[in-house]
Amino acid sequence: MNGRVLVIGLGKSGLASVAALRERGADVVATDEKDRDALSAAIAAVEAHGARFVPPQNLPGDASLAILSPGIPPSSALAQRVRGLGIPTIGEVELAYRLSPAPMIAVTGTKGKSTTTALIAHLLRACGRDAFAGGNLGEPLVSVVARARPGSWVVAELSSFQLETIETLRPRISVLLNILPDHLDRYSSIEEYAEAKFRIFENQGAGDTIVLDRDDPRLLALEGRFARAGCSAQRLWYSAREQFSFIDRGDVPLRGEHNYCNAMAAVLAAVAAGCDPAAIREALRSFQPLGHRLQPVVEIDGVLYVDDSKATTPAATVAALESFTQPVVLIAGGREKGTELGELGAAISRRAKALVAIGESAQKLRAVARDVHGESAASIEEAVERARRLAAAGDVVLLSPACASFDMFSSAEERGERFTHAVHLIADGARA
Ligand code: ADP
Repeated sequence: MNGRVLVIGLGKSGLASVAALRERGADVVATDEKDRDALSAAIAAVEAHGARFVPPQNLPGDASLAILSPGIPPSSALAQRVRGLGIPTIGEVELAYRLSPAPMIAVTGTKGKSTTTALIAHLLRACGRDAFAGGNLGEPLVSVVARARPGSWVVAELSSFQLETIETLRPRISVLLNILPDHLDRYSSIEEYAEAKFRIFENQGAGDTIVLDRDDPRLLALEGRFARAGCSAQRLWYSAREQFSFIDRGDVPLRGEHNYCNAMAAVLAAVAAGCDPAAIREALRSFQPLGHRLQPVVEIDGVLYVDDSKATTPAATVAALESFTQPVVLIAGGREKGTELGELGAAISRRAKALVAIGESAQKLRAVARDVHGESAASIEEAVERARRLAAAGDVVLLSPACASFDMFSSAEERGERFTHAVHLIADGARA
């Protein structure tokens, strides 16, 4: 990297970009709009890497490239000012792609990204390949690629926000899982959101593979577009309604039809990467579910408690409700993202025996699920206690909020941990 590079945003990914660029000898300047006080640790880290912090009023006009952190929208005033200075701007994942010595498998979609990304890395490793996973999940992609070698695979989870700032990023294999209503607070329509996700294959061509779900009408409609554009990447389609040649539902160690779909996607990606189908099928069986995604916590008095705190959209909660045949006491609610709740209401009525509603959307959720017994709780601990009283042996108590966590928690992980902790306290009490 020659010349001066400006890194915008000093969160985890921005600092990782500073480190990666300095390692390659670039002259790095970093900026962030937060108060200097809030930034003192970040500025110290920037300086420790031999880079320099500048306040947003003093941007260097002579930078030859700017790296935008995924948390900062390209439409923000700061990003616009940088472009106004004539500095070409790319996202952190585009930088990671340019620095990577290894081919990339990129995964996007509204739901199932983390599970599928982790599963692909698991399958590749079990089949004797060297694989590194990161991106939207876990470690920033610039740090991940620093550990990869030419024979490795980089498995990248990419959000629609990250895909807005790619330029040359060309996955050897791309996986598009589904397009469901989400982030409608940031996009003006689901079509605009879908277009951001479709950028995952804009640079793909001969020798590349695209893996897609045939049952999603928005994805199926892409086939016409690929054909018209003369797209020469191979397309591998999967469908829960058709025979799948590589695995059976029984091979998937995760609950729910949606996870069967995620598994088919991961298996096709591993096949495209050259892994042996029999070895893939074997490897699938040893995969462990990721935390806070339909994760069984413990059984108390015949009631199974399940943590699905990562279900931050109505569609994810519908999928969770559909994965149980037992009666469900559902704990849901939180900060809404402007999505339609009708289908969720119908699924709650069909599958749940009771709803314990929490957070900002509590009233609204109870209104759409009017025909099941509903209660509200002011904290997750109170919600667990109410759910325990409502559940009988053979039931499931399911935390699957359908909403973001930021009205009550710092993250979906914290929400899941608080739930798990409250459940364990009850379990300890039951044993005492
Ligand atoms: P992401 O990284 O895209 O948010 P995760 O794998 O972390 O996806 O799963 C998040 C939540 O979405 C979990 O509650 C999970 O059960 C649910 N989920 C996973 N895959 C799907 C899918 N294909 N359709 C609907 N919901 C899903």
